[in-house]
Amino acid sequence: MSQLPSPSVAIVGAGLSGLTCARVLQDAGFRVQVFDKSRGPGGRLATRRTDRGTFDHGAQYFTARDPRFRTIVQQWLEQGIAAPWTPALVAIEMMDDTPVRSAVGDGTVRHVGVPSMNRIAGALAEGLALRTDLTVTRARRTAAPDGTIGWTLAARDSLGEAAAIDGGFDWLVAAVPSPQAAPLLADVPTMQAQALALPMVPCWAVLASFDAPLATGFDAAFVNSSSLTWIARNRSRPGRDPRSECWVLHAARDWSECELEAPPEAVCARMLAEFRRVTGCNDQPVTARAHRWRYAGPGARSDLACLFDADSQAGACGDWLAGSRVEGAWLSGLALAERILAAAAVR
Ligand SMILES: Cc1cc2nc3c(=O)[nH]c(=O)nc-3n(C[C@H](O)[C@H](O)[C@H](O)COP(=O)(O)OP(=O)(O)OC[C@H]3O[C@@H](n4cnc5c(N)ncnc54)[C@H](O)[C@@H]3O)c2cc1C
Repeated sequence: MSQLPSPSVAIVGAGLSGLTCARVLQDAGFRVQVFDKSRGPGGRLATRRTDRGTFDHGAQYFTARDPRFRTIVQQWLEQGIAAPWTPALVAIEMMDDTPVRSAVGDGTVRHVGVPSMNRIAGALAEGLALRTDLTVTRARRTAAPDGTIGWTLAARDSLGEAAAIDGGFDWLVAAVPSPQAAPLLADVPTMQAQALALPMVPCWAVLASFDAPLATGFDAAFVNSSSLTWIARNRSRPGRDPRSECWVLHAARDWSECELEAPPEAVCARMLAEFRRVTGCNDQPVTARAHRWRYAGPGARSDLACLFDADSQAGACGDWLAGSRVEGAWLSGLALAERILAAAAVR
């Protein structure tokens, strides 16, 4: 008796949620193909490498509360691809022009990827079929000449040229921010509407390097009553080059929304000016550039761990479901994989 081929799945998005979903399904015997529009995996678990040092300019650290995520974080610690981060951490309240500092002793255990934030994504992607530099522009649920129904994808490469994606897929997973998931879910209108109802908010980041260590007296700070919300010295994280003096600045949500379409150079200058006001350090950076995260995080709460439709064999996962942040993205990818496995088992 001939065996049916194992089910195939197209996963759009190689951020933490997509990679997690991919790994679970591949380990269960699915034929998995992952696509990402960037040069490598990781999404917002991001690291920029420069000749001045590295900048973790997306997720800054992650916490683990859910027992399942705690278990996986423990594995990452044992593999040496994550480590606890214990920076000299303060909170800064801007009182008019005066920064008022207080220590942060909240007992939170913060973890980071080692030697870079996106190392975790790299490790998860090992052994997966991953096509990068490919933006999936459309997903259609269509019938093949033999009558089988499946998903076919259209894509373009990094030059904007149409790129071929061979074959159909039994399952579709949209593991991308909700506004990017919506167009891919056009053939599943209920899910598309759910994605459209969950907006995401932006965050401007600045990556600045200096010749000498800044005399800030701290490594990282939550900033309040300011256009900045967070600043961090990258080398305070374990495994980074101790000679580099690279800082990442994140702007507040409201400020980022107001300045969303502003020129990056202007954004960079204004965020650096605020950095000087907040830290009291007037050192000029050697390099500085702004990066816009258009979809930095969820703008609304969702009670759903993932979106799933058994009839159309499609689903969506990401941090805009399952409670946001790195932990939420991981839990959402896991939840969707479990739904797909359960549905495939009864077919
Ligand atoms: C500035 C900033 C600070 C943050 N700080 C923290 C923090 O301190 N702690 C924390 O826990 N979390 C933090 N986060 C959130 C955390 O990074 C995310 O929750 C998590 O990484 C999201 O993973 P994801 O898989 O849901 O999405 P993503 O990481 O966004 O992955 C989606 C992927 O899909 C790809 N993609 C999108 N559209 C397409 C398409 N059409 N075709 C192909 N590929 C596509 C993208 O390139 C991307 O790689 C922060 C995020 C940002 C931006």
